[in-house]
Amino acid sequence: MDDLKFGTRNKRGDYTPNEPVTVAPLLVWPWSITAFLKWLPGYFLPWNVMFMALAFVIWKYTLPAAGTMQSLSIGWIAGIWLRNMAIILIIYGALELRLYVRRRQGNRFKYNAKWPSEQPSDVFMFRSQNIDNFIRSFGTGIPIWTAYEVLGLWAWANGWGPWTTFAENPVWLAVFGLLIPVIHEVHFYLIHRLIHVPFLYRWVHSVHHNSVNPSPWSSLSMHPVEHLLYWSGSLIHLILPSHPLLLIYHTQLTGTGAVIGHVGFDKIELGQERGVDTHAYAHYLHHKYFEVNYADGTVPLDQWFGTWHDGTKEGDALMNARFAEKRARMNARR
Ligand SMILES: [Zn+2]
Ligand SMILES: [Zn+2]
Repeated sequence: MDDLKFGTRNKRGDYTPNEPVTVAPLLVWPWSITAFLKWLPGYFLPWNVMFMALAFVIWKYTLPAAGTMQSLSIGWIAGIWLRNMAIILIIYGALELRLYVRRRQGNRFKYNAKWPSEQPSDVFMFRSQNIDNFIRSFGTGIPIWTAYEVLGLWAWANGWGPWTTFAENPVWLAVFGLLIPVIHEVHFYLIHRLIHVPFLYRWVHSVHHNSVNPSPWSSLSMHPVEHLLYWSGSLIHLILPSHPLLLIYHTQLTGTGAVIGHVGFDKIELGQERGVDTHAYAHYLHHKYFEVNYADGTVPLDQWFGTWHDGTKEGDALMNARFAEKRARMNARR
């Protein structure tokens, strides 16, 4: 594909899409049914449908019997841990292999012209972004994710919490299921703002931001405290009437789904003429500029609180004005 039909490349070779990043027309005023209907298919396709299907397959074909999950025994817990590792290895691994190892589409649609593997840095273990990302994801990320999933399933198997069934509450569970990406984003926004507080940023969140030029392996590369906060959104299933299928969808979207924002390319090519939009640009800008786009715009929280960057020159100007104001405020305090 010719990526310059869809964007521009600067002297360094960094790619910028032409289209500004848009906020979902869900909670924007004036509300428009036409805009909503135009946006709706992209809410599902391809990514959310993929994670819904993944959750369905896991729930239907791999979940141990409720009786087994009533007690916390090593066998089934290890099974879930291995399953999560396998999913990450396969999905993240396939994207990494195609885009970063084999470089099948070169740097077409790639936001940052540089390749993480060619940028050794002291901020990373073994000076390697990939090795550091890998150790953090598999060392603490997936075990903590698994612990949240096990906690939820164990509670369900024992009937602890307001669990329900699709026969009893089909409408509620369908609505809840459809809103999980929104719930995930609001929760992520809140914990994300929290860990950008200077003390927590230095101690916790800077680990994730070391990957200024993220690749799929960067998605879950976090400090363990961030991992603990990151999956804590799944505790909502112990508070609101839920179903194990929704719990798994939520933890999958949080875990496996993180890759979408960190893929580093605006489109993944599917041949000469077609490519799938990643919607990664909003979060790429967060990795590039730090104090913009704490969420991805499904709910316009960044717009409401003045931290939205839509990727355009105007977005740059707004951000620079805000940073200058902040510097002036800090200098005045000295
Ligand atoms: Zn990130
Ligand atoms: Zn951040």
